[in-house]
Amino acid sequence: MAATRKSIHATLDGPEVSRLPRKTIAHGAEARPVAPAPSSTGSTLHHGRTIVSIDGHDVIECAVCGFCHSDPLVSDEDLKKFYGGTFYEECSEYFRYAEEDKEWAMLRYGYYFEKLESLTEGRRLLDIGSGPGYFLEAARERGWQVLGFEPSTIAAQYTSARGIPVINDFYSAGKAQDLGKFDVISLNLVLEHLRDPISLIDDAKRILAPGGLLFVTVPNDFNPLQMQLWQDHGFAPWWVVPKHHLNYFNPGSLKRLFASRNMETVHQETSYPMELFLLEGRNYVGNFPLGRECHKQRKAFEIALLRSNLPLMHAVSRTWSEQSIGRECIIIGRNPAGSCPP
Ligand SMILES: [Zn+2]
Repeated sequence: MAATRKSIHATLDGPEVSRLPRKTIAHGAEARPVAPAPSSTGSTLHHGRTIVSIDGHDVIECAVCGFCHSDPLVSDEDLKKFYGGTFYEECSEYFRYAEEDKEWAMLRYGYYFEKLESLTEGRRLLDIGSGPGYFLEAARERGWQVLGFEPSTIAAQYTSARGIPVINDFYSAGKAQDLGKFDVISLNLVLEHLRDPISLIDDAKRILAPGGLLFVTVPNDFNPLQMQLWQDHGFAPWWVVPKHHLNYFNPGSLKRLFASRNMETVHQETSYPMELFLLEGRNYVGNFPLGRECHKQRKAFEIALLRSNLPLMHAVSRTWSEQSIGRECIIIGRNPAGSCPP
């Protein structure tokens, strides 16, 4: 694995480097921008300069992986325990808010499927880390054949109760080898949680049809609006959450990651830049009720466009992405036609 990753070593020179802070922040003493330094693990596999340190966890700009990630990484055992059970238990209100957001989520997913349907004629979807199953439900409503992998028993039961097929397990190529090929494989807000997101992409590609599509969403972190809030407005880097997020992507690093796995990027956009609320003086960080209020406003904006003007929604979202702003990155990559699984 180390040998294959060396091929992307030289690509870590994107705009995110110049955006990194060079001064101490005014508030948020728990977050500490630090001078360039070797990885704390001294690991030869992962190394790069440390860009922030929070609660004993460093985030390094990894020269090997080509994106930012936590260092040292938490153990596989701790991750499996967390996502197999604790994750949704810790978010006891998760499903209530998911229901509240469902109309908006289904409109957003319909918008994504319209794009996916313009890029492939296949209609077989595997959603890895399917959560409450709304992405699968949106596809099924459009006539797709769907299947989910979801390690949380609570989330898998919530999905299967609606008649949506889901395997209550962590995904691996071995467990999926008898499932046939899929035209689209999706990873919605999954890669930021994993010790080894590169291996998961490679594993997913093993059951992706030649010419099939990989659809990925991840948070867009250390983005220019966040950096401005951090450097000039006294905010701590609230998006760095070592317990939940091990990896930190942006449109550039995500596209390079796809290229390194022989995936041609055929579409990229970002979602609404939630940081605009913070710059407008509505500080929702650590204020959940205000955060929900801002989220409602964001939903109202998107629902208006999603109901009546999808081309404008895509145009706005692509423009945000070109500037590396927007809260989440969305990318669609194409498996080479006629490619053989490694
Ligand atoms: Zn790394």
